[in-house]
Amino acid sequence: MIDTVEVCFGCSACALICPRNAIEMDRDDDGFVKPRLNRQKCVECGLCRKVCPSLQRTLLALENSSCQVGKYSGFSEHSSSGAIAYAISETAINRGEVVCGAIYDTEMMAVKHEIVSDLYGLNRVSGSKYLQSNPYTGLKDLLTKPRGILFGTPCQIAGFRNVIQHGKLEDAFLLVDIFCHGVPSQLLWTNHLKHLHEKYGISIHDEVNFRFNGGFNLKVGQYTGEAQIDPFYHLYLKRCTYADSCYQCPFRRRSAADIRLGDYFIEKGNPQSVVFSLTEAGEACIEQLVEQEKVKLRIAAYADVDRVQDANVKSVPPIERRKYLEQLKAGQSPANLMGEGKIFFQYVKGFIKKLLRKE
Ligand SMILES: Cc1cc2nc3c(=O)[nH]c(=O)nc-3n(C[C@H](O)[C@H](O)[C@H](O)COP(=O)(O)OP(=O)(O)OC[C@H]3O[C@@H](n4cnc5c(N)ncnc54)[C@H](O)[C@@H]3O)c2cc1C
Repeated sequence: MIDTVEVCFGCSACALICPRNAIEMDRDDDGFVKPRLNRQKCVECGLCRKVCPSLQRTLLALENSSCQVGKYSGFSEHSSSGAIAYAISETAINRGEVVCGAIYDTEMMAVKHEIVSDLYGLNRVSGSKYLQSNPYTGLKDLLTKPRGILFGTPCQIAGFRNVIQHGKLEDAFLLVDIFCHGVPSQLLWTNHLKHLHEKYGISIHDEVNFRFNGGFNLKVGQYTGEAQIDPFYHLYLKRCTYADSCYQCPFRRRSAADIRLGDYFIEKGNPQSVVFSLTEAGEACIEQLVEQEKVKLRIAAYADVDRVQDANVKSVPPIERRKYLEQLKAGQSPANLMGEGKIFFQYVKGFIKKLLRKE
């Protein structure tokens, strides 16, 4: 049964396929999205295991597909890098299709997938939210639509690919994944919000932007913090409290999507995206955007992209991980975990090192 799968990505494929609605997706004690099985409802049909991307996956190698870099020709305020995701979504919405992506829910203080069908909604799904999205409700809604585009992390996309393959629905959906170096525990985030509330008086239900001013800056209400100094961001980028499965991610160089997107920062102030077209459907979508001059792209070398992406990942959980998770469960904030003084000291040290390198 699904609760015995060793490496769970929290993609919700099992819950989507279950004919008895015996599986719910919820956060576990460590703050990660996991399936919860109701054994009384379960009839042991085994469908959940058939679509689990941990047990079953067909992936294409990025290395063997077209690799381009560039950006959207228009303006998209909320996108993270080259806004290729925005260009793909805008075109789909203009065709009358829906887009399913991750939104930040201020009430829940968490990220979840939702369907949008207009430009207002598109602004809500645009932009990276550095939290684990619970995709279940959005994906369930998407399956009721005749056509649509799904954006998500590679594991979410691999799970959904299995579900639509099983239902013979592959022609109805275009799947787009993003490079992902890992998702942090929800506790890291919720405890940080409480800390910001106590220290700066922000509301824990304020709007959030993880890529404020185009950089790795967090904005919550009136509070802003650079990634190197903000304790949540600092610990996230130290890769200390990822989900177990992130340290064993099989999707770094392979994908179940039609298109893979990522950041491509080569010049300051000119963020671009890297775009891999993995399938015919993916290629057709990107070619159409180029023909319509919605995006400007040029061929890039796979090795250059791979080098940068590889430097982002961590394959072994750091020894402090369990200790940090226990401290978070006990209600401590990211600022308590490392100490704000220590974070600031590391920032100053990094800054001086950078200055010395420039001279
Ligand atoms: C947790 C996480 C880790 C990432 N790690 C890397 C990395 O190591 N290297 C890299 O190049 N890029 C990484 N990215 C992707 C990157 O930030 C951009 O999303 C990507 O370059 C596309 O940019 P864009 O401007 O075209 O689209 P964007 O405006 O960024 O939107 C892309 C899509 O991502 C979806 N999305 C946003 N947050 C989430 C989420 N939490 N879960 C699922 N889907 C989400 C949105 O629905 C949106 O449709 C990461 C993103 C996330 C969320």
